[in-house]
Amino acid sequence: MATIIDGKAFANTLCEKLAQEIKQLQTEHSLTPCIAVVLVGEDPASQVYVRNKVKRCEELGIESREYRLSNATSQTELLELINDLNNDASVNGILVQLPVPEQIDDAAVINAISSAKDVDGFHIENVGALSIGENQLVPCTPLGSLMMLQDQLGDLSGMHAVVVGRSNIVGKPMANLLLQNNCTVTIAHSKTRNLDEVCRQADILVAAVGRPRFIQGDWVKPGATVIDVGINRIEEAGKSRLVGDVDFAAAEERAGAITPVPGGVGPMTIACLMHNTVRAAKQQHGLM
Ligand code: NDP
Repeated sequence: MATIIDGKAFANTLCEKLAQEIKQLQTEHSLTPCIAVVLVGEDPASQVYVRNKVKRCEELGIESREYRLSNATSQTELLELINDLNNDASVNGILVQLPVPEQIDDAAVINAISSAKDVDGFHIENVGALSIGENQLVPCTPLGSLMMLQDQLGDLSGMHAVVVGRSNIVGKPMANLLLQNNCTVTIAHSKTRNLDEVCRQADILVAAVGRPRFIQGDWVKPGATVIDVGINRIEEAGKSRLVGDVDFAAAEERAGAITPVPGGVGPMTIACLMHNTVRAAKQQHGLM
């Protein structure tokens, strides 16, 4: 049976260290890191994510400012708010919770955020920095996944990593981070042929597909480390529950280690957002 990678415990440890660092920033530099969280519309999942992020900020001593805008907000109005936040020196990080309503272009919003305050790591300058190995602010989900892999496996050099999914927010940055760590990386997607065989070659298998229990147990190479990024809400036996992109019960029989859903990648994503906010604040004050 696989080792279950406890993302919740890992995230708590990371957050405890960050809380110490924040205390030190406050006492030695009178600096309280501050993040502005912008939510446009009433998407229920987004509301939960924003609530969880704000709660974590409070626990750690990061100041959070919430901006809740109506579903009818225009792109111009949102860009004006971002411009104000970019120019507000007391704000170190800006997060616009995605998805935004359809009248707003995500890319225009992401690239309007100052790259120095882009704690999600989605701005094209941060994407470019990651792709040439000069990491600035790195997307939180892949960063948290990498931290768990390094903790579990140590040096990743020479391992074959298969990333299923090629989105800009998970699959591509994950592949880049694994490449930087000397893995041999395969990126699979919806047009990949013989996906089961590709997955079976993986020493490290990262699933970021968005389909419940899509990766079958017998696609997992015995002993492989499996990172399940998926968060899918399903109805089962009359109950609503969250499951990942991996068929956990079957994969657990073959994997060496595996992240559960919930309690794996999710908590690490939020912890890495806190990490990025502290990093942004330090950089803006010449402290790193
Ligand atoms: P996207 O929908 O943007 O991307 C999904 C990817 O999966 C695409 O590249 C797509 O391929 C690929 N895919 C879809 N169907 C198949 C298939 N049949 N075979 C192979 N590949 C396929 O999703 P995200 O990357 O944004 O998110 C992925 C999952 O991770 C979701 O469940 C999401 O909720 C979760 N998530 C979790 C986070 C966390 O904190 N734990 C944070 C962010 C996301 P193609 O490009 O060819 O269409």
